Amino acid sequence: EHRFLDSLAALSPEAPAVHRVQSRLADEPAPRAGGFENEPDTDPALADNREWGRAILAAVPSSVLGDATIEAARIESADDLDDVVASAVAAAPGWAALGGAGRAAILRRVAAELSSRRAELIEVAASETGKTLAEGDVEVSEAVDFANYYATLAEELDDVDGARFVPSTLTLVTPPWNFPIAIPLGSTAAALAAGSSVVLKPAGQAKRCGAVLAEALWAAGVPRDVLRLVDVDEGDLGRRLVSHPSVDRVILTGAFETAELFRSWRPDLDLLAETSGKNAIIVTPSADLDLAAADVIRSAFGHAGQKCSAASLVILVGSVATSERFRRQLVDAASTLRVGLPSDPVTQMGPLVEPASGKLLGALTTLAPGESWLVEPRRLDEEGRFWSPGIRAGVAPGSEFHRVEYFGPVLGIMTAATRDEAIELQNATDFGLTAGLHTLDPRELGEWLDRVEAGNLYVNRGITGAIVRRQPFGGWKRSAVGAGGKAGGPNYLVHLGSWEPDALEA
Ligand code: GLU
Repeated sequence: EHRFLDSLAALSPEAPAVHRVQSRLADEPAPRAGGFENEPDTDPALADNREWGRAILAAVPSSVLGDATIEAARIESADDLDDVVASAVAAAPGWAALGGAGRAAILRRVAAELSSRRAELIEVAASETGKTLAEGDVEVSEAVDFANYYATLAEELDDVDGARFVPSTLTLVTPPWNFPIAIPLGSTAAALAAGSSVVLKPAGQAKRCGAVLAEALWAAGVPRDVLRLVDVDEGDLGRRLVSHPSVDRVILTGAFETAELFRSWRPDLDLLAETSGKNAIIVTPSADLDLAAADVIRSAFGHAGQKCSAASLVILVGSVATSERFRRQLVDAASTLRVGLPSDPVTQMGPLVEPASGKLLGALTTLAPGESWLVEPRRLDEEGRFWSPGIRAGVAPGSEFHRVEYFGPVLGIMTAATRDEAIELQNATDFGLTAGLHTLDPRELGEWLDRVEAGNLYVNRGITGAIVRRQPFGGWKRSAVGAGGKAGGPNYLVHLGSWEPDALEA
């Protein structure tokens, strides 16, 4: 519903990646006292910050990862699970009774608490999921933003004329491992802001991140029963949790197939899911090609391509398709990215969260007829966790690489004779999450905005890294399941409860 506004927001240039202080849109009022402002990232140009970063990395183990167990939250039986759910349900009325303003005050303390735990969060995300310091740092900023922004929206819930917001009782939050800080915190903060109790089940690969987030929420004053952390296997008990009759709503971020699985377990499930993407950036002959090359590489290979928002395809229009210089830029930029452990400060691309297998392994090792490697990915370790980035040329319309999401460091190049054809290729997938256009021609931009089918549109910027409030995040088609607002946008909370006519008005 915010597509048009998002598109406008996307027109303003991105702040430099190293610093997240945002300039304001010209027609946007400055926030009132107590209003919302985005949290800045850590600026590595400052020597103190580099020192701080080195100290964090020193604590990251040089072998990666592990599947932690969170003893205090471990669920071993159906009875354990039912007890947790019952305690969260019992705590819900007291939380709802605080009202939007009361909950907002606690969420602002949550934001401060997260901010004070920035180093710890970055370290745990790097240790568990292989995230680099820079990628972890922006996630902490986003988490702080979610807590502060949803606090502002919670206050607004109190002020709607003629209608009264009725909170849900219990929300189950099932986040992914690829944004192990921002997404669990964002979904949890939204549900809490909307007056619901929460059961948070972190991703199996990112349980310690979930535990640190829960500690921060509790330390800030969210009662322990209002937020329950659970470490539960994704088998029968996971199914019992999703299907539990006391769970009013599930907020899922993950694969489209997971959303379908949840629905198959419980057909009437109130599910709000942000799911997969197959995202492309169009580059036209009117683009600033130097900028386009940098944005394509960053969007494709940031966090080793393990983002729903990542660029999986670049579509080159007309003369760009035959530009030797542009191809050279992509090759040089991709082949000089430093792949390594997140504990090493020079690393630009960390490992995969799990060894490449299945369709991703296929995408890294085999070509379809007509395709060729512009940059061939290399496996850098025994296990298959570390890969150098790959770029394949000659991806054909309708081919597997055009349609399938891989979630790894491999980018495909498609070519189009005209801009029309490029937009058709960009739209011709089952998904519609992010989409990019590089052009300096306003007419090309206008024609693209009218036709592109995706939730988040970015112009002359990378297509990852949506910023809370400025670029509410969420997709179309198979990139979203269930009705709701976009995360980090003004209508997110209003869907997380129900509305009754105000007794006085009625
Ligand atoms: N919000 C993230 C971004 O804009 C993507 C989240 C995801 O991968 O699920 O890059």
